[in-house]
Amino acid sequence: MKLEHYIGGAHVPSVSGATFATLEPATNTEYATVAAGDAQDVEAAVAAARTAFTEGPWPRMPAAERAAVLRRIGAAIESRDDRIAAIECRDTGLPITQARGQAHRAAQNFRFFADVITTLGEDVYRVASAQLNYVVRKPVGVAGLITPWNTPFMLETWKLAPALAAGCPVVLKPAEWSPLSAGLLPEIMEEAGLPTGVFNIVHGIGEEAGAALVAHPDVPVISFTGETGTGQIIMRSAAAHLKTLSMELGGKSPLVVFDDADLERALDAAVFGVFSLNGERCTASSRVLVQDTIYDTFVARLAERAARVRVGSPDDPATELGALIHPEHYARVMDYVRVGMEEGARLVAGGEPPTGLPGGNFLSATVFADVTPEMRIFQEEIFGPVVCVTPFSTEEEAVRLANATRYGLAAYLWTNDLRRTHRMTQVIEAGMLWVNSQNVRDLRTPFGGVKASGLGREGGHHSIDVYTESHIVHVATEDLPIPRFGVA
Ligand code: NAD
Repeated sequence: MKLEHYIGGAHVPSVSGATFATLEPATNTEYATVAAGDAQDVEAAVAAARTAFTEGPWPRMPAAERAAVLRRIGAAIESRDDRIAAIECRDTGLPITQARGQAHRAAQNFRFFADVITTLGEDVYRVASAQLNYVVRKPVGVAGLITPWNTPFMLETWKLAPALAAGCPVVLKPAEWSPLSAGLLPEIMEEAGLPTGVFNIVHGIGEEAGAALVAHPDVPVISFTGETGTGQIIMRSAAAHLKTLSMELGGKSPLVVFDDADLERALDAAVFGVFSLNGERCTASSRVLVQDTIYDTFVARLAERAARVRVGSPDDPATELGALIHPEHYARVMDYVRVGMEEGARLVAGGEPPTGLPGGNFLSATVFADVTPEMRIFQEEIFGPVVCVTPFSTEEEAVRLANATRYGLAAYLWTNDLRRTHRMTQVIEAGMLWVNSQNVRDLRTPFGGVKASGLGREGGHHSIDVYTESHIVHVATEDLPIPRFGVA
């Protein structure tokens, strides 16, 4: 299997001819060769997108017409649901049942932003009868979209849909460990009738292709999802051109359980929150903080449930936890398991590959109890099926522990005390909080983190803000006084 760049409506190899191989996580065998782009390929893709911006119909098209194309993209995705899920499952190691959900969400992303732009108003401010100030939203220009390897198709469409809806041509740089599902996007865009040059893909290694996209002067906005460290590198480079940045970064999100909570549901949420999507989920509830009165029971139940999470081949519908993305990432996660044990955390479930699975990056659902805040496994994002459990006694201690990392993406609170709920939601440092709930998302609501977890918000009109500039026009409707200088 071969995957090339998609530039100006054509599938093309890298100018340099370079390629890289991708591995199937369940077996670690190479199964696709992908064009490895560099600055020359990025130059060509940005030029195509720039021409689509300055000369093409897309940025000038009435919103309703753009929305019709977006809806056709949604339909084209839906008609390939099974194919997308199968590719995603093979390429990322996600269990097939969970990969199906990703394909469905991807179609929804396009339908949703079609609705957003057709209902989007622009503002007018009347200054008594003397002046009208109106605000016109304009697409900002070529958008650079850089995405991570976890749930790639969903995250690519989460950026593509609002960027295209806003009228921006795009250059997408998919993650090098899971580039395959993006390979379906060109035929989807063509089938939907998206004008040529509006959608471009450059594959490649982040430090080459991604960095070239960030550094390109004709790309005024970068929407990035990935690691916090990469976000920092991107920010430094983007400073040269004062680019608009939207950054969805790492997390180490707490799930806090008080003894008055519905413990059965809190347990379901804790298990699902960290072991779904192979634990390779930015909003994973990877730190579980449990009130000391129920701590021992909760830890025992969590360990028991983790031991029964079905680890298996990603294409088996019975599998709940598949294969981690890449041997390098797997080695990193396994290293954290070793570190956790060395740091003195108590391993109560998992910690090693399950027996009976040949090759591949498999790890049983892993639970560490008695984890303390100074341990690395408490502080650092593991991004795998590993959860840390820590006891607390008071509400103040729970807040202190919840806020004791540099991250602030999500938090989950389990309590039936209404007043405590509102006290805690005010002081927990997280961009998004869920109370007595798992991570249920509504596309209208803002998505994003605080502290080292991100910059800006996407979702609903927040996404449109990223890809548009507001132009403010002030029109005098009466003669307003003008101070007269130089007449004395
Ligand atoms: P990563 O930062 O290694 O890579 C993300 C993307 O950036 C890839 O396409 C990569 O090629 C590119 N890249 C790497 N170096 C670059 C550079 N110097 N310049 C430009 N681009 C560069 O992240 P990853 O390992 O692919 O993804 C996992 C991370 O993503 C985790 O930290 C996770 O929490 C985070 N994530 C966050 C969210 C969110 O919404 N907050 C969602 C999903 C994943």
